[in-house]
Amino acid sequence: MALRKAGVEATIYEAYDTTADGIGGGISIAPNGLDALGAIDADEPVRAIGTPLYGNVITNAQNVKVAELALPEELPPLHFVWRTDLYRTLHDQSRERGITTHRNKKFLTAEESPTHITAHFADGSTAQADILIGADGIRSTVRTLINAENPPPHYAGLLGFAAPLADTRTPPTGGKLHITHGKRASFGYLSQEDRSGGWFANLPHPEHLTLQEVRKTTPQEWLRTLRAAYTDDDSPAVAMLDLTDPDQLLMTGPLELTPPTPTWHRGRIVLVGDSLHATSPTSGQGASLALESAVQLARCLRDHPYPEAFAAYEALRRPRVEEIIEQTDQANQTKARPEARKTDPRHHSATWHLHHHIDWNSPT
Ligand SMILES: Cc1cc2nc3c(=O)[nH]c(=O)nc-3n(C[C@H](O)[C@H](O)[C@H](O)COP(=O)(O)OP(=O)(O)OC[C@H]3O[C@@H](n4cnc5c(N)ncnc54)[C@H](O)[C@@H]3O)c2cc1C
Repeated sequence: MALRKAGVEATIYEAYDTTADGIGGGISIAPNGLDALGAIDADEPVRAIGTPLYGNVITNAQNVKVAELALPEELPPLHFVWRTDLYRTLHDQSRERGITTHRNKKFLTAEESPTHITAHFADGSTAQADILIGADGIRSTVRTLINAENPPPHYAGLLGFAAPLADTRTPPTGGKLHITHGKRASFGYLSQEDRSGGWFANLPHPEHLTLQEVRKTTPQEWLRTLRAAYTDDDSPAVAMLDLTDPDQLLMTGPLELTPPTPTWHRGRIVLVGDSLHATSPTSGQGASLALESAVQLARCLRDHPYPEAFAAYEALRRPRVEEIIEQTDQANQTKARPEARKTDPRHHSATWHLHHHIDWNSPT
C-alpha cells in the first residue's frame, strides 16, 4: 500500500493459500506503528479492530506492583489486535486499493539480469519485476539469498501462548495490560469493561521447539504445563487458564529475534519487516517496526532510483531497529531466567521508541 501511494506498482506473492486465520496471538500496534499506518491512510481500519491500551502495570509473584508504564499524554494509545484480524484487515485494505495478491506462490530463488529480476516459485511459475522486496518473515528465504552469511534468528528461550476469553471473571484493567513477572514465567492479561479480554504467556523452555513441534503436544497438555508454571504466583493466571477453552488456545511458537543483519540489500533485492529485523513479541514492536520500514522504503523508492533508495532506506532504519532489538534481547534474557530478574522500575520506563513520526511528504 505504501508503494502504491509512492507511485510504485507492486504485486504480492504469498506462500499460503489462505489468510492467517487462527495463526498467531495478540499483537500490539504501538503509537509509532499507528503513525506509520497513518502515513498511508490505513490507521483507521486497524484502530477499528483494536482495543486501546494506555499502558502496562507490572506486578511480581506476590501481586505487588513493581512498575507502571503510562503512555505519554501526547501519544495515542497502543492498539491490541489479534494477528488474524490484523492480517485480514490489511489484506482487505490492499485489495480495496487494487493491489493483487497471488497465493500459493512459495518463493524459492531469484536471478538478476541488467534490466530486471526474475522470481521463481515452488509451483514452477516465475514473475519478473524491477526489484524484489523480501517481506517473507522471520524464516525468510530472501534473507539468505541476499547473503548466505546473514545470521538466522535466535531463540529467546521462551514459548508463546495466548487465548481470548469471553468473560475473564476479573475486574476491568482500566485499559492497561497487566503483566505478572511470576516465579517461573511471565503472564499478561487484559480485561475490558464488559470483562471480555484475553491473556498471553511467555513460558521459559530451554529446548528450542518449532511451532510444528509445539503443536504436537495437545492444547490440554500445554494448559496443564502453563498451570504448573503459574501455580505459585498470586495472579489471575491459573484462574484464566482454567477458563480457557483448549480449542481457543493459540500456540504462537518459539519467541525468536534476528541478530543484526549485515546485508540489507543486494542488487535489485531488499528486505523489509521480520525478514530483516524481527524483534520477539515481548517488545510489542514487531509489527510496528515492520510497518515503519515498509513506509520508509516506499518513500525512499519514491525519491531515488533503486540502488540509492536501498542505501537511503538502510541509513534511515538501521540504527533505530538495531537499538530496539538489542533492548528486547536484554529483556528476554531476564524473562527466560526469572531468578535473575531485577525490579528496578526504570527498566520499564523507556518510551523513546514510541515517539516516531513519518512525514510522508518530506524528501528522504
Ligand atoms: C506464525 C506467526 C505467529 C506470530 N505471532 C505473533 C504474536 O503472537 N505476537 C506478535 O507480536 N507477533 C507475532 N508474530 C510476528 C508478527 O506477525 C510480525 O512481527 C509482523 O507481522 C511483521 O510482519 P512481516 O510481514 O514482516 O512478517 P510476517 O507477518 O511473518 O509475514 C511474512 C509473510 O510472508 C509469507 N512467506 C514466508 N515465506 C515465504 C516464501 N518463501 N514465499 C512466499 N511467501 C512467504 C508468510 O506466509 C507471511 O504471510 C507472528 C508471526 C508469525 C509468522
